[in-house]
Amino acid sequence: MKAPFINDNSPIRVGILGFGGLGQAAANVLTHKTEMRWVAAADRHGYVHDNDGLDPDKCAEIYRKQGSIGALKPNGIQSETSIHDLLASHAPVDGYFLALPNLPNTFIASVIQQFIQSGWRGVLVDALKRTSAMEKILTLKDELQSVGITYMTGCGATPGLLTAAAALAAQSFVEIHQVKIIFGVGIANWEAYRATIREDIAHLPGYDVEQARAMTDDEVNQLLDKTNGILTLENMEHADDLMLELAGVCGRDRVTVGGVVDTRNGKKPLSTHVRITGRTFEGKISTHTFTLGDETSMAANVCGPALGYLKTGIQLHQRGINGLFTAAEVMPQFVR
Ligand code: NAD
Repeated sequence: MKAPFINDNSPIRVGILGFGGLGQAAANVLTHKTEMRWVAAADRHGYVHDNDGLDPDKCAEIYRKQGSIGALKPNGIQSETSIHDLLASHAPVDGYFLALPNLPNTFIASVIQQFIQSGWRGVLVDALKRTSAMEKILTLKDELQSVGITYMTGCGATPGLLTAAAALAAQSFVEIHQVKIIFGVGIANWEAYRATIREDIAHLPGYDVEQARAMTDDEVNQLLDKTNGILTLENMEHADDLMLELAGVCGRDRVTVGGVVDTRNGKKPLSTHVRITGRTFEGKISTHTFTLGDETSMAANVCGPALGYLKTGIQLHQRGINGLFTAAEVMPQFVR
């Protein structure tokens, strides 16, 4: 397979797995980039590949009307094993963004196993959320390395952008006392981000991942009716803690994540931010705060970093560096 390129004029060939809210947003972000070209995608019922590039509007329309990009003419293929079949087609793709639901909690790990077994080499990026899911992925590190895959995990907003910001902010201190992430998400319609909302529900008291996965759309609607569309999340099991621990910033018990999601209003209910409190070498206790602009959507803050880490992954891969990296370990490169 042709090696990925980055220093010549050819764009990095990007595949997107999962074509729901985040997958479609990533395809749209890519229309603003010349260093990357979107060439492949898979959803639950099909896949499509076109070396000349895919049109996000056409793909979204087919997905909306026919339920799968596999129905896109002439290149779409309908399949209930779309990821497997896309890989088996040997479509030349340098890196994939996994915009897939992690339901069950081991789903992304099972997708990685498919990549490992396929013989494909390149870069994979996820926007995984749960600590336990990432722990499972960490066990695949050696296998990823030996088959020549560079895997970037936790590369969305949180974990992702905010975790990386915490790792950067930590540099002012000799000891980190607390990392506190609070996010606000406003989406006009929960059905645009079904997996995200189900995975958030799984964090509510009385729910777990399996229960949230098994909920019908009607049951989700009923729950949201009861809460006026608002999900308030506290002490979430988020891999920011594991990533900052692995990066040596602080123990995972010092990291907390919570947030408020409004599923009926595009406006954020509060400003997403991370606060890093620590002690400087002079003995001063202080806090750095990194706040995202309220106008930036969840999609912008997940897909931008995911593609930035994909670019970093490609650079590592080209140097022969494979295996597993978290978003707190390396910087995302800006994709032009
Ligand atoms: P979604 O429900 O809108 O879309 C999921 C897509 O995956 C759909 O296109 C579906 O057809 C496809 N899919 C499902 N099963 C598949 C399979 N077996 N093979 C191929 N495709 C399959 O999802 P979303 O709301 O865009 O969320 C995607 C993921 O992003 C979720 O896991 C969510 O937790 C994560 N996320 C991360 C962050 C972060 O900051 N780290 C933020 C938001 C969402």
